Amino acid sequence: MYGKGTVSINAENIMPVIKQWLYSDKDIFVRELVSNGCDAISKHKRLVSTGEAQADDAPYRIDVVVDKEAGTLSFSDNGIGMTAEEVEKYIAQVAFSGATDFISKYAGEDKGGEDTKIIGHFGLGFYSCFMVSDKVVINTRSYTGAPAVRWTSADGMTYETEESDRTERGTTITLFISDEDKDFLNLWTVRSTLEKHCAFMPVPIYLSEVQPPKPETEEKPVEEAEAGAEGEEASTVEKIEEESAPEQINDPSPLWMRKPADCTDEDYKEFYRKVFHDYEEPLFWIHLNAEYPFNLKGILYFPRIKNEFSASEGVVKLYNNQVFVADNIKEVIPEFLLLLKGVIDCPDLPLNVSRSFLQNDGYVKKMAAYITRKVADRLTSEFNNKREDYQRYWDDIHPFVKYGCIKDEKFYDRVKKALLFKTTSGEYVTLEEYRNRNCDGEECTVYYASDEKRQAQMIKLYTDQGKDVVLLDALIDANYISFLEYAERDSKITFKRIDAAADGLTEEGETSEDDRANLEKRFRGALNDENLSVQLKPFKSNEMIAMITVDEQNRRFSEMSARWGGKDLNLPEKRTLVLNAKHPLISWLKGAEDGELTSSVCAQVADLAEMARQPLVADRMVEFLKRSNELLTMMIDK
Ligand code: ADP
Ligand code: MG
Repeated sequence: MYGKGTVSINAENIMPVIKQWLYSDKDIFVRELVSNGCDAISKHKRLVSTGEAQADDAPYRIDVVVDKEAGTLSFSDNGIGMTAEEVEKYIAQVAFSGATDFISKYAGEDKGGEDTKIIGHFGLGFYSCFMVSDKVVINTRSYTGAPAVRWTSADGMTYETEESDRTERGTTITLFISDEDKDFLNLWTVRSTLEKHCAFMPVPIYLSEVQPPKPETEEKPVEEAEAGAEGEEASTVEKIEEESAPEQINDPSPLWMRKPADCTDEDYKEFYRKVFHDYEEPLFWIHLNAEYPFNLKGILYFPRIKNEFSASEGVVKLYNNQVFVADNIKEVIPEFLLLLKGVIDCPDLPLNVSRSFLQNDGYVKKMAAYITRKVADRLTSEFNNKREDYQRYWDDIHPFVKYGCIKDEKFYDRVKKALLFKTTSGEYVTLEEYRNRNCDGEECTVYYASDEKRQAQMIKLYTDQGKDVVLLDALIDANYISFLEYAERDSKITFKRIDAAADGLTEEGETSEDDRANLEKRFRGALNDENLSVQLKPFKSNEMIAMITVDEQNRRFSEMSARWGGKDLNLPEKRTLVLNAKHPLISWLKGAEDGELTSSVCAQVADLAEMARQPLVADRMVEFLKRSNELLTMMIDK
């Protein structure tokens, strides 16, 4: 029975495939060996539950041991173990997965119990360890009590088997790490690899390192030498202590596997801190726990987003039965939700997912839609039930919510009642509330500011009249309002920046066209701008002498082209200078003789109007300051 053999089923063809697969992600062998250990333990539990195997008191565990001296990395489990025949069948026959065999045997009687969650599907996982090894030894003893067996192979294609003196149930896989992969003898590397792939595997995983014996040639300090035998004893004790104090790497029952009703807020926050190393508290979270139509569990957190740029730092980790698969898989998690932080566990997805597979998978698409819906519903229920809190979150979450609306109209439809606008007086209103407060009639214009400080004067003119001005100052807002105008086209909503037109600030009243033309000529001359158009209108308030307006669509277009097209496409904004017909200075200008003073006054009025909406360009600022000084000086000269 024992002897030499050659791994069957085209190992020569398969090894290069495995090599290539691993080339990109070599450390995956750790996941494969640990998950095989988990599977072996699940199988044993299963057999105990059916009475086919004997239970014992030893807790199930997996041990990963680094031995630098021996150059080995080993993985032990106290699972089902293998008989010589099983080693032959499952290990030697590459691509013949024992997992498939086991499931087909037991799936029929499966009642959805914990014990049948088998990770492996491919029958290739084990062979991944040859990528980092010069030699691999399996030492295993089956729960059946059949003689233990040792299987040794240097290349994954030829092997030797012999009887082993192993007495305890389970399997130890020892990798003799090759020179070029010595990094895997580094405790730190092994730990971080385990933490990445195995942090939530369902069996406790312990990591330890065999301490090298102290070299005898080392010179001992005098006192220790005098202590003699006693000192040596102490160092032996120390060695055993270090070996026998392995650290547990994983959390075998992660929060997302528990029932939401059994989890406290503190549990969720702690899990968040631990997994995402984010010490800012999350705003709120969603515990996904679906069995139908998907088998899907997970927790999605809304992180506190410090600014729009850090919003791209979210991370959603994907698991398959507590085995880490990948981060941020766009195909499963809709892109805009990648701003969130969280974990998704989906046992029905294959462990080794390829992007092209996921993209074309209808099941994955439905899953993504399900997650999106859950998020939208949660936001809506926060809004309906805890509006105060929700308003407080809004500043943090709005870029993400808006992005989601633009990206996915279904998301928008589900969440639209919970979309807020922050007004310049610090209130939060929905579009409907804005409409009820500010508009009557069929159409409604939402007035907004894009820079609360810069546009303070104009904001004040609106709010003094009892009109709400909303603040839309995020990067995403330009796209967002275009989206809203389109999505809400039936309800005739338009957005206008407060400097888009003077209508909101002027009142009815006749002005003479001659006066207007006359003033236009004057301003054109003073500003040396033949294209300037000037309007003359009575303002509701005399706080303002003039304002500059830029048509909303024109401004949006030139902003957009500046953003996307760079300098070449920079379309100038078409500005209109609207003069307050009621203001004494304008009346004075109408009658005054052309001269240096009127010219200075015109330039000053135009600059002030410009400054009320945006900063002056450098040259113009220099001019403005110089002129202001002159005008002040004239006042005392009088
Ligand atoms: P898979 O896990 O996809 O079935 P692997 O190549 O990882 O494929 O493993 C092949 C088979 O070898 C497993 O299905 C299992 O039957 C057996 N095996 C591997 N590792 C162990 C182990 N630690 N204990 C018991 N059986 C194992
Ligand atoms: Mg496996």
